[in-house]
Amino acid sequence: MSATSEFPARLIEGYRDFLAGRMPTERERYRELAKRGQSPAIMIIGCCDSRVSPEVIFDTHPGELFVVRNIANLVPPYAPDGVCHGVFAALEYAVQVLKVKHIVVLGHARCGGIRAYAEHGPPLSPGDSIHKWMSLIAPAAELAGPRDGEGDYLTRLEQASITKCLENLLTFPYLADAVRSGRLFLHGCYFDVATGQMFVRDGAGYREIAHAGPARAAVAG
Ligand SMILES: [Zn+2]
Repeated sequence: MSATSEFPARLIEGYRDFLAGRMPTERERYRELAKRGQSPAIMIIGCCDSRVSPEVIFDTHPGELFVVRNIANLVPPYAPDGVCHGVFAALEYAVQVLKVKHIVVLGHARCGGIRAYAEHGPPLSPGDSIHKWMSLIAPAAELAGPRDGEGDYLTRLEQASITKCLENLLTFPYLADAVRSGRLFLHGCYFDVATGQMFVRDGAGYREIAHAGPARAAVAG
């Protein structure tokens, strides 16, 4: 770290706002969480994209979501190869220790990672980590069908990638076991950055979460 580097002023401002605003209303919850530890019922696998923050979109409180984020909200298939893998570690902890009840793969429109895969363009090259990571999308590209097929290709690819991630989750033996025994439920959803609409995967398609009340339970319940 450079000796002249300064902690970002935006973060200092934001933290002060948090101390003055949210912290007082959440104080008791923080105390309780510190005493009992976290026990979130929901794990979110989301994209690093700065516009798609799960805690903001789902309006959650501290301790409610266990979140792992990576480029394009991907889940690699199970591979017991001993390689350190952040997604694998997060899944193990969520399912085997926290015993979350739901895992939600949260995809989104205008995903730069998905677009990069589809366009194979700069700034990515085959030697880059991101290029290797995005190669995980190849099976979803097969599922998404031809580029000149019906509807927007990137949307189809983004949604096919969610489907593939849900399939990949079931390649983890402990996770498949938890799903089979009814202790764990898997979900996919898709956030439209431009409109704020949220769509929940329902069979082969997606249905929009309505603006009011009960539909919220479709994801969180
Ligand atoms: Zn993304």
